[in-house]
Amino acid sequence: MNLLHKKVAVLGCGRSGIAAARLAAANGAAHVCIFDSDPDAVCPESTLNFVPGAGEKEARNFAADLVVISPGIEANTPWSLAFTCAGAPIIGEVELAFRYFHGRVIAITGTNGKTTTTSLIEHILISAGKTAKACGNYGYPFSEVAQADPQPEFAVLEISSFQLETIASFKPEVAVWLNFAPDHMDRYKTVEDYYRAKLRIFENMTRDQLAIIRVGERLPAIKPRVVEFSAFKGSGVLRFEDNCIMQLANVVADLNGSALQQAHNAENAMAAILACRAVGLSDEQIVPSLLDFEPPHHRCEFVAEKGGVLWLNDSKSTNLHSTEAAIRSQTRPVILIIGGKDKGLDYTPLLSLMRGRVRLCVVFGQIAEQLERTFKGEFPTLRVETVPQAVNAAAEHTRTGDVVLFSPGTSSFDQFTSYAERGQCFCDAVKNLTISPNNN
Ligand code: ADP
Repeated sequence: MNLLHKKVAVLGCGRSGIAAARLAAANGAAHVCIFDSDPDAVCPESTLNFVPGAGEKEARNFAADLVVISPGIEANTPWSLAFTCAGAPIIGEVELAFRYFHGRVIAITGTNGKTTTTSLIEHILISAGKTAKACGNYGYPFSEVAQADPQPEFAVLEISSFQLETIASFKPEVAVWLNFAPDHMDRYKTVEDYYRAKLRIFENMTRDQLAIIRVGERLPAIKPRVVEFSAFKGSGVLRFEDNCIMQLANVVADLNGSALQQAHNAENAMAAILACRAVGLSDEQIVPSLLDFEPPHHRCEFVAEKGGVLWLNDSKSTNLHSTEAAIRSQTRPVILIIGGKDKGLDYTPLLSLMRGRVRLCVVFGQIAEQLERTFKGEFPTLRVETVPQAVNAAAEHTRTGDVVLFSPGTSSFDQFTSYAERGQCFCDAVKNLTISPNNN
């Protein structure tokens, strides 16, 4: 792409927007300007042109030749479209970076497991002596990686549906489709819209590229070659038995002693094995890295064992599907702490999985009332306002042998600035607990 003499409008002054602006400027654009609709937005880079509080008038006056949009901003709003009034195309920050990245791209999408799988693939590649950077929706913005000199051999790109909405020529060498379940109903009108955005990962791929897909995913015919995996069904190339990843009769990886213990993490490991094999690594190079991998925090993470009660922090669970995976993986009676922001999700599909596994629900946050209505006919349910109150309420009802699973099943933005802050609040409250299990 030739940006010489071109005017580039970058929408959004977050980390991706700033990286995109720098990338465009480094590649010869005549005039690059970052626009943000928030009048209080601050651009930490004083060398970049920046317009906070930009309206549609400023958008039209700029008369961009190219519009690069950050993933948090929707492309088809009047504000975004005003930048295209001179006929400029809109592309996402990932698309821009792809056009300037000369290495190999492994892209990972799915409703859950993207970050775990992305960081695992990066870890395996680096341990095998390759240069690799986790980027995109996790780690560095892809545009930052595309500016590195030299660029790494691999970009391991976590790509969300929001980022896929604005691709054009993006074509990874390997695409991983981990799973799909309803989510982000605060951004999409229908589940179908969310699904269609995600499907775009395969749009430009051909038989020369590989798609790695979980068995049983509802996908149309796609052009890349396909290999499948599943921890729950036996028909993929890889399957899961007795905590081992198996291929035919052979043990590929024994996950005992690793941090990738639960079935959903075994699926992440399977996807990573297949992706790394596809780019030329041997199982001898891959498997040791599965065993010393430390997953990112807040994902079914051990917090404490107090009086025979296990406390797990799964604050990164921001939809039903991840809470389902967390409940399914428990072998002890579960006290479930669930709640947070209203994202328009329906929680009744959780009920059948919860039966026989969950013995008490503690609901909190903006959707506490909705959750109480959904659960209380079937499970004892306590409604509280905050995470520390939820921890105290759960603690009063624990029995030796229980697991208290903090798996909120929705986003944190009703009370916190991030899932990480919410997870930390949970961990702090657990650490301050003095109540013993109630074994009466
Ligand atoms: P993402 O980046 O897609 O949000 P994460 O790896 O950050 O994925 O995990 C998000 C949540 O999903 C956590 O609650 C985690 O325990 C759960 N999870 C991780 N991998 C999977 C998977 N393969 N299937 C279902 N849930 C998963």
